[in-house]
This record gives sequence, structure tokens and C-alpha cells, in this order.
Amino acid sequence: MSESAKITMATAWLDGCSGCHMSFLDLDQRLIELAEKVDIVYSPIVDTKELPGDVDVGILEGAVSTEENLQVAKMFRERCKYLISLGDCAVSGNVPSMRNTFDLDEVFDRAFVETVQAQPGRPTESLPTLLRTVVPIHHVVNVDLFVQGCPPSADTIWYVLTELIAGRTPDPTQITRFGA
Ligand code: SF4
Repeated sequence: MSESAKITMATAWLDGCSGCHMSFLDLDQRLIELAEKVDIVYSPIVDTKELPGDVDVGILEGAVSTEENLQVAKMFRERCKYLISLGDCAVSGNVPSMRNTFDLDEVFDRAFVETVQAQPGRPTESLPTLLRTVVPIHHVVNVDLFVQGCPPSADTIWYVLTELIAGRTPDPTQITRFGA
């Protein structure tokens, strides 16, 4: 990545709570500085609906829980030169992977029957196709950088992005830890 060129960036959340994206938005006024150096070409926080074919930096929040998550992770890997696994759900499975000890019928019943008072019952359409087990992103595609934290702080995200913009490889391991 050259130091002077504006880089392109894409983000998506898979099975996550969006908290990692909220942490990105917590960059606050630093977002203005970032916008001078980075084009966000695809993200839940912009309007673009299609991931371009050639993106410099891809950032994925959340674990891989569904067929759709799997397809998005693969698409990001194919189209992004540098892929970041952002947050503990992406890095380890974290909260979403807590369902792995239950079978899928138990998971659906818990969500749509046992904990629902008004009209309990499993929907017959628009249900996501769940994978049998929830896995972190690097279990399905290669990842270039892991950024721990639930969520990683805005300062951590700023550090990672500014290092990349400067043409350096960030090492967030000294300023992050699982769960914080
Ligand atoms: S790592 Fe934490 S903040 Fe990020 S998606 Fe998972 S639960 Fe949410």
C-alpha cells in the first residue's frame, strides 16, 4: 500500500451485534481525517450496495454462522487485498458460538417458541440457513490481521487504520486483549 494513495475500504458485519462498527463510528472527528485518506466503498454505514471487485482493505465483524455469512466472508477474501478480522466474534466465535453446544432444533425452538409469549412458533420462511457450528472467520478464509476486543476500542481501530495508511503492518496485539 503506497503512503500517498487514497485506499479503498469495505466493511461488513456477519454474526455480530454491530458493536464493532459502533466502535468504528466512535472515531468521531477522526472520521473526517480518515475520509481524506480512505474511500469507504462498501459498508453498512454507507449506501453502496455492491462490493467492488478490487478493494484494498476489508474489515469483517462477527462470526460465521449462516450460509450467507460464509458467502460474504468468501467474497471479501476474493475481492480484498488485506482482510481484517475485527473483534472477538470474528476472531474467536465469542458470543455467537455459544450455540454450538446445542443442536439447531433446540436453537430455533429457544428463539421462536420457548421465549416467545405471543404466537410462538418457528417461521416457515425467511429463516437464515444456519451452519451446524459457528466458526471464526479464519476457519473459512485466510485473514491477514486479527484485532481482538469486544469491541476493539476506537483508539485501536484508529491505530490499525493509520498504520495501514502509512504503509506499515499494524501489530495490535500490544494494545488489545480478548473481551476488552
Ligand atoms: S466482538 Fe463484541 S462488540 Fe463486536 S460484534 Fe462481537 S459481541 Fe459485538
